[in-house]
Parts: sequence; C-alpha cells; structure tokens
Amino acid sequence: MKISCEIIRDLLPLYHDGVCSIESRALVEEHLTECESCSSELIAMDSVLPIKNEESQWDDAKSVIQLSRKWKKGMLTSLLKGILSATIVFVLLIVILYLFMDIKIIANT
Ligand SMILES: [Zn+2]
Repeated sequence: MKISCEIIRDLLPLYHDGVCSIESRALVEEHLTECESCSSELIAMDSVLPIKNEESQWDDAKSVIQLSRKWKKGMLTSLLKGILSATIVFVLLIVILYLFMDIKIIANT
C-alpha cells in the first residue's frame, strides 16, 4: 500500500511527538525509508522545535530575571532611601542635641 506524502506529513508531527498509533508509526517509518523529502521534513522538525522551545524558555527566563532584578532594584532603592532618611533624622537629632547642649554649656559658664 502506497501512502501519499501528504498523509505522512499529516502524521509526522504525531510521529515526531510519539503520540500516533503503532500502525501509523509503522506506516510513517516505512514511508520514511523510501521518501527523502518526508524524512528531511522529520529532521527539520527535530532541529527546529527544540530550538524554538529553548528560545521561548530562555525568553521566559530572561523576563523573570529582569523582573526579579527590577524588584531587587526597587527593594534596594527603598532600603537605601529608608537608611538615608533614618541617617538624616539621626544626624539632625545629634546636631540639635549638640547645639542644645552647647547652648546649655555656654549658659552655664
Ligand atoms: Zn514522502
């Protein structure tokens, strides 16, 4: 029984993912031994699909990294702002206390 390339190409994605029936698998394999264009189609699937997946996964990873970087940056700046404002308040307090004590010392002497 001769199967047309179109039928095989319909089955190729299923064959490639290993989800077709044993019978279809046998038909595809039989066809692939005789048909160069269909076997190159399968090879193309083999080489194209994983790269696409990796790229999209890489994109996902990149966006996650960027997001976490942004988040960390936001955390860091808010932390720095907090530290800075706390330091300013602390310094102001010391200056005020110092001035106050100075005035006291001057008043005492
Ligand atoms: Zn073919």
